[in-house]
Amino acid sequence: MMSLVTRFAPSPTGELHLGSAYSAWTGWHRAREAGGTFLVRIEDIDIRRCKRQFETAILADLQWLGFGWDGEIRRQSEHFADYGKALDALDAQGLIYPCFCSRADIAASAGAPHGTIQGPLHGPDGPLYPGTCRSLSPAERRERLVAGHEHCLRLDAGRAAAQAGPYRFLDESRGWIEGDPLLLGDVVIARKDTPTSYHLSVVVDDHLQGVTLVTRGEDVLPSTHVHGLLQKLLSYETPRYAHHRLLTDAAGRRFAKRDRAMTIRAMREQGLSPEQVVARALAEAGVVV
Ligand code: GLU
Repeated sequence: MMSLVTRFAPSPTGELHLGSAYSAWTGWHRAREAGGTFLVRIEDIDIRRCKRQFETAILADLQWLGFGWDGEIRRQSEHFADYGKALDALDAQGLIYPCFCSRADIAASAGAPHGTIQGPLHGPDGPLYPGTCRSLSPAERRERLVAGHEHCLRLDAGRAAAQAGPYRFLDESRGWIEGDPLLLGDVVIARKDTPTSYHLSVVVDDHLQGVTLVTRGEDVLPSTHVHGLLQKLLSYETPRYAHHRLLTDAAGRRFAKRDRAMTIRAMREQGLSPEQVVARALAEAGVVV
């Protein structure tokens, strides 16, 4: 039996809160229970929003909670060359195109009446990219690139779907899920400001780090459809997934980095012990161990 490898992959854009601590616990607990490996990865490709001080605080909180990790911490901002190779592999298959649209362009075209472009199309995160730049001619593309117009790189989801064929992934509580390659449309593969994206780096890292079980919030489930597609296109194994529920406050709003009172630091300052904080997270999640 292959040894279990899980990971917790926070973005250092704020302090650890009860919801993210629960997420960390799921990965840590599953690994420890199985005598496997628990990895921590810092997802800091967003250089404007990620801060070293948050990384330090998150790691200190994980240690305080008793969620010790194995091996070195992987920091995504130090591995752009790895993402570049995967990007090249997708590009070599003709699945990537440059997109010069601004957010405002996308909002405007996504709201256009049916038939004008392709919209309005909505995905779990709002308007899907209507594909405007997909149909630029090679000459138009070249001209804009040579003129130095800002652009990101997008996956041509339709082509990618045709190339990949059917795929599926196993979610531990939901069972096998058929991949829907078009669910999030032509996702960004490399952002304007950084040579990778969330989707690309997660898929590359889970592969390079040998992650066998991805434990993360169910808010990311739609992205798993994209990740399965990329794994197939890049000839990577697809790990198992355990998408867990998100913790919410009394009003049903999920805990977020902005809720100061829900941070682990605030709970430490109130004098709670690590055991009490973990017990609270598990009680909120309805988990009995
Ligand atoms: N960096 C992502 C987050 O903080 C992690 C999502 C994932 O585990 O793939 O939400």
